[in-house]
Amino acid sequence: MAKIMIVEDEQAITLLIKYNLEKAGYETVCVNHGGKVISEIEKTSPSLILLDWMLPEISGLELCKIIRNSPEINNIPIIMLTAKGQEEDKIAGLSAGADDYVTKPFSVPELLARIQTNLRRVSNTSSPTPKVYTFNDIVLKPNEKKVYRGEEYIQLAPTEFRILQLLMSKPRQVFSRDDLLKEVWGNSIYVETRTVDVHIRRLRKALNEFGANYIRTIRSTGYSIDDK
Ligand code: CA
Repeated sequence: MAKIMIVEDEQAITLLIKYNLEKAGYETVCVNHGGKVISEIEKTSPSLILLDWMLPEISGLELCKIIRNSPEINNIPIIMLTAKGQEEDKIAGLSAGADDYVTKPFSVPELLARIQTNLRRVSNTSSPTPKVYTFNDIVLKPNEKKVYRGEEYIQLAPTEFRILQLLMSKPRQVFSRDDLLKEVWGNSIYVETRTVDVHIRRLRKALNEFGANYIRTIRSTGYSIDDK
């Protein structure tokens, strides 16, 4: 059974989440202090992290960035938990490397659905896919979960990796936002189409650091990888 790390400093919320996750059959690890998160991740290898935004000493946002920049642990899905419901905060969370975002107060069924969706995406990507995808100087190795641009290793969060893999599986084909939601997020009813745009921006930013932009926006249609 999947192990979920709950990073939250408010004990009542921690207990509520822990109780419901264990009832749903998950194993849980609770961390109430931002400073202990990285060492606990290394020690317990969780399958997914629920990360509170407002933590003493080090914020969830900062932790998210640290996790995404740590090669050994950067592929663990992160769902940010926060009382902040504003659009710019949501984008900041996703831009820092979170895969998903749940606003407090949340409903338990919604939280469980989001956890399931994010876990399923990871298990989908770990199924054997022997193929290596290439598009010009971009190389994506599904089994190793690695992307290279020329000689450069490109660090991508799991969601961006899945999007790139999908686009590279059919170069020049246009995928609508709904296609991407279906293939990458498994049609979760809680994900908004705008979220796709945020992840595309992150993907572009990571890739374009080392070469031309191949991720095309096709107005009112969707996205493709193309060099024309
Ligand atoms: Ca808090």
